Amino acid sequence: MTVRLYQRDPYLFEFEARVEETDDAWIRLDGSAFYPGGGGQAADRGTIHGRGVEEVLERQGSIWHRVPGHPFSIGDMVWCSVDWDNRYDLMKGHTAEHMLFGALQRMMPELELLKIEITPEQKRLTVRGPIDRDLVESAEGLVNQAISENLEVTRYEMDREEAESGEVRAKLERIQGDTVDVVEIGDFDCAACAGIHVMETGEVGAILVDRISSAGGGDHNLDFIIGDEAIARSMDLAHLALRAADALACPMENLLRTMENMKADAEGLRKALSRLSKISLENIAPIDVEGMQVHAAALPGIPRKELISRAETLRERGHLAVLVSVDDRVEFVMSCPSESGIDLRRLVDSVVKDMGGSGGGRPDFVQGGIADHSRAEEFLRRILDSLGEGV
Ligand SMILES: [Zn+2]
Repeated sequence: MTVRLYQRDPYLFEFEARVEETDDAWIRLDGSAFYPGGGGQAADRGTIHGRGVEEVLERQGSIWHRVPGHPFSIGDMVWCSVDWDNRYDLMKGHTAEHMLFGALQRMMPELELLKIEITPEQKRLTVRGPIDRDLVESAEGLVNQAISENLEVTRYEMDREEAESGEVRAKLERIQGDTVDVVEIGDFDCAACAGIHVMETGEVGAILVDRISSAGGGDHNLDFIIGDEAIARSMDLAHLALRAADALACPMENLLRTMENMKADAEGLRKALSRLSKISLENIAPIDVEGMQVHAAALPGIPRKELISRAETLRERGHLAVLVSVDDRVEFVMSCPSESGIDLRRLVDSVVKDMGGSGGGRPDFVQGGIADHSRAEEFLRRILDSLGEGV
């Protein structure tokens, strides 16, 4: 068994220990301040006698450290150092996680905690239940309030029976033994946990839930950041919102409503453009080229989707389509009935490439574009000439 120095003193990061056992690259010490990971919190990093500890884990009640190439033998006294910046960040993140979930569940008791990830790269809760941004922002506010009140964080053991009947948040089916480690954060939160936490909530500094994303099946991931990072990110986001309000020439408090209106307007315009495009394309009068009905025109600003849809329809009717949209560039879609024997790719190779454009597709359906928007009519004429010459 290894004495768990991190449980006695979570702030201990340098210590001397005796090597009790080795197993290839793995070392067991008589006592260790290296947290082996658990409760969603990543294992510690650091050094043993200056050599990097690449992995820490718990095996049969003892803590093992993987130090590749170490020269240690049983009985050696070694000086150990836990990467404190990393560990302290994880302790603060872990404490913040207790508070955040506690606050969320206070407002929505049916909320279920599925997974916790507290690593150097990410701090994330995965939850099941109907959450939305309003709820998350309210919980975040409660946590920041508890941080500013600098509540005391205490850890003690509780009889299992008491935990079962009490106000402790716990998944007792996952806990072995007759006693339960309980972490109490002032009068704010109380949960079963054998991990490591800070002593006062003020150490967390601040919390910002900076992303809510789907975890599939209706579950959600809540990513949060803490401390200076949370404050700096909050400032960045505030500046971004201020700039957005300036750009939209609206008061800051109307920013969201203005953007929602713009989105609705854009959607309305998109639908109107689609309708107008359809009408314009349907109104192209066919001309006869070598006995073929050719629908050819250059029209301003037609979405490519509409060009494709009309070209497909005309092809099915046995007609030939040369549909061109002119905007800041020329875009074209051409189609012909496959039984016509025409290979439209040859037109792309001759006309389009000669005009500095690009495109491709199947013999009966091609699309592409030309950068110079002033050459749309020339493009159309050259395509029709080529078709007239029986290309
Ligand atoms: Zn914990």
